[in-house]
Amino acid sequence: MLIAATNGSGPATPANGEPNSTMRPAFLNPLFASAQTLAGIGPRLILLLKKCLALPPGVSEPRVIDVLWHMPTGVIDRRSQPELAAAVPGTIVTLELRVLKHKPSPRGNTKAPYKVTCEDDTGRIDLIFFHAEHKFIERQLPEGEIRYVSGRIERYGERLQMSHPDYIVSPEARHEMPLLEPVYPLTAGLSGKIALKAARQAVERVPELPEWQEASWLEARDWPKFNEAVVRVHRPGDAQDVSNGAMFWQRLAYDELLAGQLAFALVRRNLKTERGRRLSGNGKIREKIAAALPFSLTGSQTSALGEIADDLAAPHRMLRLLQGDVGSGKTVVALMAMAVAVEAGAQAALMAPTEVLARQHIETIAPLADAAGLRIALLTGREKGKAREAVLSRLATGEIDILVGTHALFQSDVQFRDLAVAVIDEQHRFGVHQRMALQSKGSNGDTNVLVMTATPIPRTLLMTHYGDLDVSKLTEKPAGRKPVVTKAVPLELLERLIDRVRVQLEEGAQVYWVCPLIETSEISDLAAAEERFAYLRQIFGESVGLLHGGLTGKEKDETMAAFAAGHLKILVATTVIEVGVNVPNANIMVIEHAERFGLAQLHQLRGRVGRGTRESFCMLLYKAPLGETAEARLKMMEETEDGFKIAEKDLELRGGGEILGARQSGAPGFRIAEVPGREALLEAAHDDAELILQKDPNLVSARGQALRTLLYLFECDEAVRLFRAA
Ligand code: ADP
Ligand code: MG
Repeated sequence: MLIAATNGSGPATPANGEPNSTMRPAFLNPLFASAQTLAGIGPRLILLLKKCLALPPGVSEPRVIDVLWHMPTGVIDRRSQPELAAAVPGTIVTLELRVLKHKPSPRGNTKAPYKVTCEDDTGRIDLIFFHAEHKFIERQLPEGEIRYVSGRIERYGERLQMSHPDYIVSPEARHEMPLLEPVYPLTAGLSGKIALKAARQAVERVPELPEWQEASWLEARDWPKFNEAVVRVHRPGDAQDVSNGAMFWQRLAYDELLAGQLAFALVRRNLKTERGRRLSGNGKIREKIAAALPFSLTGSQTSALGEIADDLAAPHRMLRLLQGDVGSGKTVVALMAMAVAVEAGAQAALMAPTEVLARQHIETIAPLADAAGLRIALLTGREKGKAREAVLSRLATGEIDILVGTHALFQSDVQFRDLAVAVIDEQHRFGVHQRMALQSKGSNGDTNVLVMTATPIPRTLLMTHYGDLDVSKLTEKPAGRKPVVTKAVPLELLERLIDRVRVQLEEGAQVYWVCPLIETSEISDLAAAEERFAYLRQIFGESVGLLHGGLTGKEKDETMAAFAAGHLKILVATTVIEVGVNVPNANIMVIEHAERFGLAQLHQLRGRVGRGTRESFCMLLYKAPLGETAEARLKMMEETEDGFKIAEKDLELRGGGEILGARQSGAPGFRIAEVPGREALLEAAHDDAELILQKDPNLVSARGQALRTLLYLFECDEAVRLFRAA
C-alpha cells in the first residue's frame, strides 16, 4: 500500500467530526467537530469561514481544529489605559468612563452622528456613532453607569472623541475585552470579533495533552508546552507573542513539521518492510544496451543505476526519484532500470506526460531495444481499435517486455502479465493518485516505481512534499554539452534579432520559437503563435513550421519529424513543445514574452537547446517595462544554467507550491510552519523522526503514545494505521 501520508491530507473526515474509519482518540474529537459547534458560528458564518480558512484536502466544512490553526497576523494593543487628560490622540486606548448624556442624531438627519458624552475624573470625551441604531446605543451605554470603552482616541477641535469604539463593556464583563487582541485574516462579512470569539472557544476545546517533544529539546530552546503555546498565540500576553518568530509559534511550527516527518518516515519504513520481490537480472540485456550506445554513461548515470539495481535486488519495493536537469540523460537510466525487470523475466512500463514525449521516448529507445532484443510497444490515446487490442493482448501474454505510453496506461483494461518496474517521466505533472493507479497494475501491488523529474527540487521541498521517496541525482551533464548563451532582449529589437537568426540559419542552425502564454482576456495563445508564424513565413518562407495544441496527434508528429529531420528550420510553437523534446541540431531558443513565464519553465525550455555541437543561444524577448520579479527572473536566466540555483531562486520568487504543481499533486502547504528558520526546523524534525523510530519503532513508550496523539492532531491518521498493520 502506498499512501500519501502528509500533514493535512489525512482521510477526509466528515464535517460533523464523527470518525468513520479513523482511530483518533476520543479526547481529540471536540477539535474535529464542525466549527458550527462553536457559539456564534451558524450556517452563514461557516461559509465565510470556509472562504478564509485553509482547509486540508478532502475537508469541506471548517472544523474547530481549522479555526485553531487559523493563525493571527498581528495584535491590536489595548493595554494603554490612561485617564482622559493623559490620553494621546491617535492611539488605541482603553478608558474607564462614566456615561453622562446621550445626544441622538435628529430624526431624518442621517448624516449627523449620535453622540454620547462620557467623563472620568480628568476630562470629557464624546463617543460618536454614525448610522447608529438608537436602541442599541441606549442599551450599551446607560446614563450614569461605568463602562470600559476601547478604540482609537482623536482630538476634534477642543474636544476628545472616539468614533465607533471597538469595545464597550460593563465592569462585570471586563475580562471579555482582550487587552491584546489578535488580528486574524478575514473575509468580507466576517468580523474580527467573530473570528476572535471562535478562536478563543477553539482554544478552550484543546484538552490537556501529553508532551510529545523531548524535555531537553524544549528546554534548550526555551519552548513552552503545547497547550501553553496554543493559548498564547490566540490569547497573547505580549505583542511579540503573535509573531511567527516567537517561541510559542515556533513550537507549534515544529510540532507540525515533526508530525509530517514522522508520517513520512513511517511510510518509508513500511514500504521497506513490505515484502517485495527481489529483481536481479544477469546483466546481459544491460550489457547489450550499453554496447549499442554511441556514448559512455556519465559517472552519475552509473551511480544512479547502481542505486536502482540495489533497490530492485532488495526485498522491499523501490520508490525512487531520479532527479536530473534537462538534458542530463534520464532516459537511458530509465531504459536500463526497465531492462533489469526484463532480465528477471518480468515487464516494465514507461509513462510520459504527453503523446509527443511518449513517441519521442519510443523512438529513442527503439534502436537500443532492437540491439538488446527487447520487445517494446507504444500505447497512447491514439492507439485505438484493432491496434490497441493487439497491444493489450500481447501485453497480457507477456509478449511485450516494455510498454511506453501516456495516461492511457492507467486504463483499467490495460493488464500486464507481470509488471515489475514502472517509470514515470516528469512526475510533477502527475498526481499522487495516478502514481498509485499505475503501481496497482502489478499483480501483487508490488511494482517498483522510478519517478523522473527535470525540476530540480531543493532538498527542503523534497522532504516536505516527497518525504517518502529515495533520491538519485544526475549531477553531470553528458560530455560535449555546450553552454547556452542567454540574453534578454526587448521586443523593440525584434528585427535585429531576426537578422541574427538569418545569419545563423545560413550556417545550418535550427530555431525553436516559443510564443507567449496569453491571458484569456487577450487573444489566445494560438492566435499569437499563428501571427508570429505568418510573419516569419514572410521572411523565411517554407522553412517555418507551426506546432500548437489544436493540431491532431498525427499533424504534431509530422511537424516534429520535419523539424527533427531538418526540413523545417524554424519551429514556431505554443508551449506544447514540451519538456523532454530532443532535437540535438536545434541551437536557438527564442521565447517571446519571456516575462510571463516562470523561472522553472524558462529553464525547461532553454534545456531544449545546447544538446548538439553548435554554439547555442536562448533569446528571451520581453515587453518593457519589466516588473521587479520578471526582471529578477530574466537576470537569473542570463547569469546561470545551474538548475539548482534556478530552482532555489524560483522558490524565493514565488514560493514552493507552484514549482511542484502542488495543486495538482495534492501536496499540502503548511498551516503553521510558514515561519522564519523553517529549513533548520525541518532538518531537525527530519532527524528527530528517524531517531524516534530507531528507538521506539512502534511508538509504544510514553513518548511514543504522545507522538501518536501528535500524528492524529495533525491528521496523519494513515500513518498511525501502519502500526496496526504491523
Ligand atoms: P533528459 O534527462 O532531459 O530526459 P535525455 O535522456 O533526453 O535527457 O538525454 C538528452 C540527450 O543526451 C539524448 O540525446 C541522449 O542520447 C544524450 N545522452 C544521454 N546520456 C549521455 C551520455 N552519457 N553521454 C552523451 N550523451 C548522452
Ligand atoms: Mg526526458
